[in-house]
Amino acid sequence: MKIWICPGSFDPVTMGHIDIIKRARKMCDHLIIAIGVNDEKKATFTFDERKEFVEKCTKDMDNVEVDTFEGLLINYASKKKATAIVKGLRAISDFEYELQMALLNKKLDEKIETVFLMTSINYSHLSSSAIKSIAKYDGEIKGLVPDVIHDDIYLKLKKGK
Ligand code: ADP
Repeated sequence: MKIWICPGSFDPVTMGHIDIIKRARKMCDHLIIAIGVNDEKKATFTFDERKEFVEKCTKDMDNVEVDTFEGLLINYASKKKATAIVKGLRAISDFEYELQMALLNKKLDEKIETVFLMTSINYSHLSSSAIKSIAKYDGEIKGLVPDVIHDDIYLKLKKGK
């Protein structure tokens, strides 16, 4: 059974993430979207909100599960018996960091591969932080986040202004 993990902070989930999830789920038997606690990044949305958003967006994807993890990703991946970690790549700036992480993870557990999917051209400019800036300053985020969570995201970001 090919189990893949798609990790990230998903703060919040964007069309760029969904594109990677849709493509990755066709390449494995079971895809776990793993929302991590990352001490270095201060999240805007709570853990529960981020999980609920991803769940709403993936509820019709039958081989996709949403989970959360703390600590080292590679330990979580091996506990879940994952064969690969899948990540999206947007730009050269993503590449340097991702290469280092992939090599470190390989050293920690050589059985788990890291698979990279190139961003789709329509989403190459998209990041969670861009969404937050646009909404905060009254910009339109329709088309950048899935429609089912658009209002939830917009309201929360406007309130926090
Ligand atoms: P970010 O890097 O925007 O803070 P995450 O930490 O949630 O987002 O990222 C989770 C994964 O999704 C990472 O592998 C990241 O490179 C990928 N990703 C995020 N946005 C995009 C996008 N627009 N296109 C392709 N991959 C993306």
